[in-house]
Amino acid sequence: TAPVETRKFEAEVSQVLHLVTHSLYSHKEIFLRELISNASDACDKLRFESIAKPELLSGDAELHIDVSWDPQARTVTVRDNGIGMTRDEVVANIGTIASSGTRRFLEAMSHEQKNDARLIGQFGVGFYSAFVVADKVTVLSRRAGAPASDGVKWESDGRGEYSLEQIDLPERGTAVVLHLKPDEDEFLKRWQLRSLITRYSDHVAFPIRMPVEKDDKPTDEWETVNDASALWTKPKSEISDEDYQSFYKTLGHDFNDALAWTHNRVEGSQSFTTLLYIPSQPPFELMMGGRDERKGLKLYIKRVFIMDAAEELLPNYLRFVRGVVDADDLPLNVSREILQHNRQLERIKSACVKRVLDLIEKLAKDEPEKFETFYKAFGNTLKEGIGEDQVNRERIAKLLRFASTKGDGSAQNVSLDDYISRMPVGQDTIWYITADSYAAALGSPQLEAFKAKGIEVLLMSDRIDEWMLGSLHEYAGKKLRNVAKGDLPLDEEGKKQQEEASKAAEPLLTKLKELLGDRVADVKVSARLTDSPSCLALSDYEMAPHLARLLREAGH
Ligand code: ADP
Ligand code: MG
Repeated sequence: TAPVETRKFEAEVSQVLHLVTHSLYSHKEIFLRELISNASDACDKLRFESIAKPELLSGDAELHIDVSWDPQARTVTVRDNGIGMTRDEVVANIGTIASSGTRRFLEAMSHEQKNDARLIGQFGVGFYSAFVVADKVTVLSRRAGAPASDGVKWESDGRGEYSLEQIDLPERGTAVVLHLKPDEDEFLKRWQLRSLITRYSDHVAFPIRMPVEKDDKPTDEWETVNDASALWTKPKSEISDEDYQSFYKTLGHDFNDALAWTHNRVEGSQSFTTLLYIPSQPPFELMMGGRDERKGLKLYIKRVFIMDAAEELLPNYLRFVRGVVDADDLPLNVSREILQHNRQLERIKSACVKRVLDLIEKLAKDEPEKFETFYKAFGNTLKEGIGEDQVNRERIAKLLRFASTKGDGSAQNVSLDDYISRMPVGQDTIWYITADSYAAALGSPQLEAFKAKGIEVLLMSDRIDEWMLGSLHEYAGKKLRNVAKGDLPLDEEGKKQQEEASKAAEPLLTKLKELLGDRVADVKVSARLTDSPSCLALSDYEMAPHLARLLREAGH
């Protein structure tokens, strides 16, 4: 047989290993969740491949995940009879940073310069979390369909090198053996492993089995310890809040509870089930501003996992949503290319959008505290929908909240409907101002005339606001206008006053225009100001200073 080969980890892998083992220590138990999640992915992949090639399941069709421990050898083993890996796949998947999650983790950690466990908990750190509790990890794997002699043994102490060996493996799938560090004996107890499975992995859709214990020792008898059903296929009445929450944790790789969820079954010419969650904190990628490789929304077809399809199933501005979509009528051999142009999927997508917006509306109406949490975490992401989703623009706008001159300090809690309900008779415009900060908006001389007249002005200071306003010209039949733009709407009395004032100021205006020359387009008498002697104003078609600055920063 081939000799044992020793290789070095890719430089980044060593870095990840170092970061993971040092920063994850306070949550070290998640190694089990991560290994079970990989085993479950491997079972999903095999089930999917076996649709076209049933022979891959040969003689061993019951996919399952086994978690066992050996008190003598001081090992914990997670084994699956899923897809398995070839030698090349082992090298590619666990010797380099193949995993998208791991790569993002690395980028974020070096970017953030802080090893915040809360941050880490928000996404899968994957295979390398094994090294938090183990000082040696052995992986035994055989690809489904490959002969027994094509097994591969991978082993490493996580310090820069790993060994590879070709071995005989009678069964397909993968076993990950953790040789525990000296002070990690707690994981050699059945109840401890079992309670971690219940906490983080109860709703993995394959049976998780553990040896039955006798006289404090594992026996050869196996027992299924998780629920192992596809939670979303059960009737709502049979699912408790705890079930929903624990399924969310499995799905979203999150420590925290979800904020809210919506679970629906659509029957008819096209039947499908959706179970969609809003997290209580921004998921990791969102915090890092990343948009690529969205995970967390899984597409199933008749309970068979097909792929992560967040991009196909939800628009970008709802990228914080996690969940499952299970369609009855899509072809099982569907590819990503087909999905992108599939009309059935379009319908499912708009149903998902509707469900999520319904859910957010319900929070706004019935659970103000949760809505506030939601808005703090995802309000700015939601604003992208104003430009992105014309069909739902009005619904989204209804959910937005702003600071206001008649609001509650800098708190963003005034809705457009609140504003409209306070408009005096005759006012037909929703006025707003944009600035870099709340203080700058509030202190702007542009507000003077509005204050004097008692007209409410929305104070917008989030980066995204200016872009959003580019697509939000109207709400509920009222125009939205920037206080810095164009002429103020004046009543008859006001117009007369202004004409008179302009005439009186004619010599001064001519003088000023001469002095300022090309630097201004015009000098006018304004009704804008009450205390300040002058201000800069924009014509209707000019860019707001805030936006001009943003564009300059972006290199335009
Ligand atoms: P992720 O699961 O986010 O891809 P991981 O670090 O958890 O990242 O795993 C890295 C890769 O190693 C997986 O994508 C998969 O290709 C492979 N892998 C890990 N565990 C298994 C397993 N039990 N069976 C088959 N492949 C696995
Ligand atoms: Mg993983």
